[in-house]
Amino acid sequence: MRRFTDTLEDGKRQVLVADDELINREILANILADEYDVILAEDGEIAYELIKQNRNTLSLILLDLIMPKIKGLDLLKMLSGDNELKGIPVIVLTSDQDSEVTSLQSGAFDFIPKPYPQPDVIKARISRSIELAEGRQIISATEKDGLTGLYTLEYFYRYCSQYDKFFPAAEMDAICFDVNHFHVLNERFGIEVGSEILKRIATRLTEVFGGQKSFICRKTADTFLVYCPHQDDHSSVADQIANIGDDFQIGIKIRAGVYSCCDKKLDIHSRFDRAKIAADKIRNNYSVFVNYFDEALIDAELFAEQLVDEFPKALESRQFQVYFQPKYDIRGDRPVLSSAEALVRWVHPDLGMISPGAFIPLFEEDGLISKLDEYVWRSVAEHISGWKKRLGISVPVSVNISRAELYDPALVDTLESIARDNGITTSDLVLEITESAYVSDSNQIVDRVKTLRDHGFFIEMDDFGSGYSSLNMISELPIDALKLDMKFIRTAFDKQNDTRMISIVIDIADYLGVPVIAEGVETEEQCLALKKLGCAIIQGYYFSRPVPADDFEKLMIDKKTV
Ligand code: C2E
Ligand code: CA
Ligand code: CA
Repeated sequence: MRRFTDTLEDGKRQVLVADDELINREILANILADEYDVILAEDGEIAYELIKQNRNTLSLILLDLIMPKIKGLDLLKMLSGDNELKGIPVIVLTSDQDSEVTSLQSGAFDFIPKPYPQPDVIKARISRSIELAEGRQIISATEKDGLTGLYTLEYFYRYCSQYDKFFPAAEMDAICFDVNHFHVLNERFGIEVGSEILKRIATRLTEVFGGQKSFICRKTADTFLVYCPHQDDHSSVADQIANIGDDFQIGIKIRAGVYSCCDKKLDIHSRFDRAKIAADKIRNNYSVFVNYFDEALIDAELFAEQLVDEFPKALESRQFQVYFQPKYDIRGDRPVLSSAEALVRWVHPDLGMISPGAFIPLFEEDGLISKLDEYVWRSVAEHISGWKKRLGISVPVSVNISRAELYDPALVDTLESIARDNGITTSDLVLEITESAYVSDSNQIVDRVKTLRDHGFFIEMDDFGSGYSSLNMISELPIDALKLDMKFIRTAFDKQNDTRMISIVIDIADYLGVPVIAEGVETEEQCLALKKLGCAIIQGYYFSRPVPADDFEKLMIDKKTV
């Protein structure tokens, strides 16, 4: 086992001298300056601050017992009660023989009497204490992770900081490795196999990075941190890890976030936070293995955090507004407003209007989406009911259902009670379910969607053609309409003028006996071409952008009077 102390030869240990008398500080600083990097404190409070600041690099504290602000013995107790600080050895400076015993009992490592003995005696006591303390730390059980034998987080950070101290000019990379879907692996193959995989990852990482100047730790279950000299490319590690589960027939995919040539002014935790942010960014992107941190990620991360933090208050104070985008039936001579899609907006008091693309994915990840959607569904149901009562107009409105919501056993009840509470029928609410929701666990999802349909809800398959559902599955899917993925409209009417995909989707819809809805239609040309191809319903800026309820109401009244 390599010990960090083996690499220390060109660095000086750091020693704090805490004594309120200038002359004492000067004497000790003089004696120690050649061999140690000495920092000085003239009272207990300053000493405590300096100890906290330098906790990762401080090798020893020389502590006078009688000092202003915080007394030596009190400080000693504060240190020994603090997990992060108690490992730093303290030598007490005292002229009073009685307090020697008390200080040793309070956690002091040794004492040096005043007046001071010969410089050599002082030096010998200091170096012996440091050696003992370091030896003690090295063998301390908490230093190594029991499963993998890698450093634990606390010691890892400590050694990284010490290393920086001794090699301040070295360019270092902070890397965070995460195993993709490790919990699934644990569930499918059992904890023992999971643990074995983690051990092998640790071994492989040690082979790859185990050079003199790298440090590796296991941070949590399946997260590993590496601090190593800078390299331009870290992508080969993925290949080296991919095959470690071969004998269990498990392919292991890990992702890495790299904070390259990290800024050493940032504390070590923040450097690894940055690496983690970069790693998390590619969590759902299976084709990319390494992601490099850049400052823009911090802004995005902070923004995302702000949105998630503010969500409960925003919901309570009704900052979310439902907009309606009309859908027009174009099968007849003239387009007829036939329904609408409800699209949520966050009208933020400081940030203005935030589009759902910025917060829906975050809320889906954090499980907040169901609260928001229930609010949206309720609000839509209230509007439908109001329009029926006040205007005598009945227009079905579609709402978006997120994938996670389909797993909620209470979904059918929730939607039904929303309809009932507002005196509307279940067929007034259309449910848009994105095509990709049908993939992961198709049977369960298909059953759930069938149940919804049995209860009278209409189902539209959203973003159809985005590339997931297989053709042999589609005939069994319980749906009432296919909503063409917007990207076909873009490609069909871009340079290539390629409308083949749209024709294929329309053929599939014919085969299933359901209409095709095209969204994202922006021009008359697109609208006419779609009509010619046999598309039934159009939604898009060509007719109208999503608008607030009042404006949508006007569109409906116009329709009535047309
Ligand atoms: P989506 O369900 O595919 O919704 C269609 C998006 O296309 C909407 O964006 C709409 O404003 C936009 N759009 C409509 N016509 C045009 C057009 O002619 N041109 C262009 N360029 N865009 C058009 P929006 O409102 O930003 O919503 C984005 C996504 O956020 C939605 O995609 C949906 O997945 C999600 N979303 C919106 N509201 C909700 C909600 O209340 N609940 C849930 N779960 N998801 C929602
Ligand atoms: Ca939709
Ligand atoms: Ca869509």
